[in-house]
Amino acid sequence: MLNSTFLQEILRAENLKKYFRISKGIMSAMRPSSVSLVKAVDDISLRLDEGQVYVIAGESGSGKSTLARLLLRAVEPDEGRIIFKDKDITEKKDADLKEFRRSVQMVHQDAYTSLDPRMKILDIIMEPITIHDKGSTRRERQEKVYKAMEDVKLEPVVELSSNYPYSLSGGQRQRVALARALVLRPAVIIADEPVSMLDVSVRAGILELMKDLKDKFRISYVYITHDLSTSRYIGDKIAIMYAGKVVEMGAVDTVLFNPLHPYTQALIDAVSEPNPSNLQKTRSIPIREGEKIFSGGCNFYFRCPYSMDKCKKEPSLNNQSGTDQSEGSPDHFVSCFLYD
Ligand code: SF4
Repeated sequence: MLNSTFLQEILRAENLKKYFRISKGIMSAMRPSSVSLVKAVDDISLRLDEGQVYVIAGESGSGKSTLARLLLRAVEPDEGRIIFKDKDITEKKDADLKEFRRSVQMVHQDAYTSLDPRMKILDIIMEPITIHDKGSTRRERQEKVYKAMEDVKLEPVVELSSNYPYSLSGGQRQRVALARALVLRPAVIIADEPVSMLDVSVRAGILELMKDLKDKFRISYVYITHDLSTSRYIGDKIAIMYAGKVVEMGAVDTVLFNPLHPYTQALIDAVSEPNPSNLQKTRSIPIREGEKIFSGGCNFYFRCPYSMDKCKKEPSLNNQSGTDQSEGSPDHFVSCFLYD
């Protein structure tokens, strides 16, 4: 486990917000009340250090994929800043943005749809080099592709590079996606549910590969997942998201072995773990049925078994470990009045 006190910060999000307006049918043009605001990412700050894996976990719809797209600058934030290697890149354009996009790569959940079926593997992996490294010859680019394929153990290299994605297995396709991200030697890879579409039997191999690449090339990952069992395997720090907010964050072991927020406890409860002692002793935190979000207070109010009157106000994310976040410690933050 990495101690962030001694690590170099590589990527930081400061108070990121992204709200979407959702219109409810044709009446929305006449009645503003039929337009609702979805707070996909609501005031999120986090710090990723060099060589570290930061897990963003939560159910579908929690806002974790929007957060990933904000960190990539694939969508613009409504508020907040993104700092990469001590440079504010929130509003950078052209060459600065291109350099940032070379350094921060994405691996998508679905390697079936993220790879162009009309392109050979060689061309799929070569495409980012062609975009970012125009000076090199095709032969030089080809050598880089072969090297990236070796790095992700996609072999035999020459034979597979002339294949099309349809002829590869799911695990091989995800290795192609990793090679495509790796070929530019990025500092950060944002991996959005990279193993969730794969057979259980090949998931461990991809996660092991990601760990090896992290150690070999000192890559940092933002690892987006709904699956807490893979989080512990690969992660250093974790943020649990619910309805656009981080409700708990800290070192992976701290959060998963001593979850404080009722939502984190319920998520851990839901993990089907063959050896329960690997994660957390049995808990029984039933999430109540009800509206998903309580506007203006704790988002989890309607579903929380412990909700009380003061939860109608919004709780803040407080450190429970007695140290200050500004010290850069991983520590343990929770947003819940039970720990006020
Ligand atoms: Fe439950 Fe209140 Fe804590 Fe929200 S603040 S999680 S409603 S106890």
